[in-house]
Amino acid sequence: MNYDIIIIGAGISGASLAYKASKYAKTLLIESQDYDREIPVRINIFAEHNKPFIDDVFWNDDSIFPRPFLQLNYKSDKYDGLLNSKEFGKPLGKISHTEIFIKKLIDKFKDQGGITQFNEKVAKVVKHIDYVEVINNKGESYTTKLLILATGSRGFDLQKSLGFEIPDSFMGIYTNTYADESLLDENFNFQYMFHLNPNISPNGPFFFNVGKGRVSTGYLGNKESPDQLREKLERILRNYKKIQPFMNGLKWDRNFITGGISKHPISTMTKDHVIVLGEAAGVVTAFFYEGLLGGLASANIAAKLIKPLLENNSNFSRSELITYDHEIARILLNFMNIKKKDKKNNTKNKFYKIFEAYCSTKYSILPESNCSLASSGHICSKWHNNSFIPSSASLGSMLS
Ligand SMILES: Cc1cc2nc3c(=O)[nH]c(=O)nc-3n(C[C@H](O)[C@H](O)[C@H](O)COP(=O)(O)OP(=O)(O)OC[C@H]3O[C@@H](n4cnc5c(N)ncnc54)[C@H](O)[C@@H]3O)c2cc1C
Repeated sequence: MNYDIIIIGAGISGASLAYKASKYAKTLLIESQDYDREIPVRINIFAEHNKPFIDDVFWNDDSIFPRPFLQLNYKSDKYDGLLNSKEFGKPLGKISHTEIFIKKLIDKFKDQGGITQFNEKVAKVVKHIDYVEVINNKGESYTTKLLILATGSRGFDLQKSLGFEIPDSFMGIYTNTYADESLLDENFNFQYMFHLNPNISPNGPFFFNVGKGRVSTGYLGNKESPDQLREKLERILRNYKKIQPFMNGLKWDRNFITGGISKHPISTMTKDHVIVLGEAAGVVTAFFYEGLLGGLASANIAAKLIKPLLENNSNFSRSELITYDHEIARILLNFMNIKKKDKKNNTKNKFYKIFEAYCSTKYSILPESNCSLASSGHICSKWHNNSFIPSSASLGSMLS
């Protein structure tokens, strides 16, 4: 056997598991993009509740998280406002330069003896009785007793070929631009703008994420082609009146990134010798574009399960791996308020209602003392119970 574990896909899910598993297993990480040349730039919102899943060495790294996420500028059909984290007595999260996070996870993975193959697409997976063979686009093959699919939502061919369900998805688009810090400071007094306007973005809000020296903006469409998504984003950036003051002096390049956002979890995330992680498994809250939580948490759950199995020379049969499905359901789906049986339902209505309810409370004018997560004030517990910003503590305690 070449490797204890082979991971296909080095997004946040695959890179996190590679980092954790390489502490105890001989691990190969395969990625079709040329990461030695460049890991694609992405600026994400990293919610505070992701904290239990990352080590302090990353959490405290200012190059990964160059800005705290403290203020959310929001707009909906009826309400406009600014939500300030002070109202909750804790930050909302951090702004993540996620490509740097992924790079640092991979650097540590290599330091721990992990092997990478970048710019190499896996074309085929062949299952044998007690091992799996992974074949790349050059016809080379590797073998393992445990294959991890962390392939995201851009291509489900391998997942399909292994008999897994494929989550339905929306298509999203974003673009990045670079600007002087002074210009960003002048234009933005928040780190995240979240505009829920059904005419613009029916399935999720239009957004700005303000990183360090750069900004990303985009929206969630439906099934449009990349060209249609891009044309509409350009129209929004040019014509949407609400955002024009923030656009002053910003120049948008024409490098648009489109990608799917999974709408629902798949019903079975393990088979003999195979586990599916993150976006590929559909553990995403599409409406909020929240996929980092699902990626980090599913990697964490898998890393904990695999270690004792490996030590006991497991054959990684489905009956041994099924604990992963159960833990994802118990911890993650529960927490993200997603039920497998509701998976075909569009998440929009439920979250739209939560957001409308939130806006109608006019949070930002409430006195601070009425609205701390520590208090059980009516409005705060309503917010809290809706899992809009769940606390790290509640998630951490479920995991320990
Ligand atoms: C517009 C937009 C905005 C978003 N904003 C946020 C946000 O602010 N916060 C947040 O939490 N989430 C956000 N998300 C969601 C989040 O980015 C994703 O859910 C998350 O990155 C998925 O991670 P992943 O590792 O599961 O998959 P991916 O990041 O898609 O990684 C999968 C990797 O597998 C590789 N791969 C696939 N097939 C093969 C193959 N056959 N061989 C080799 N390699 C292969 C791919 O090249 C890719 O690098 C956003 C998504 C979009 C589209």
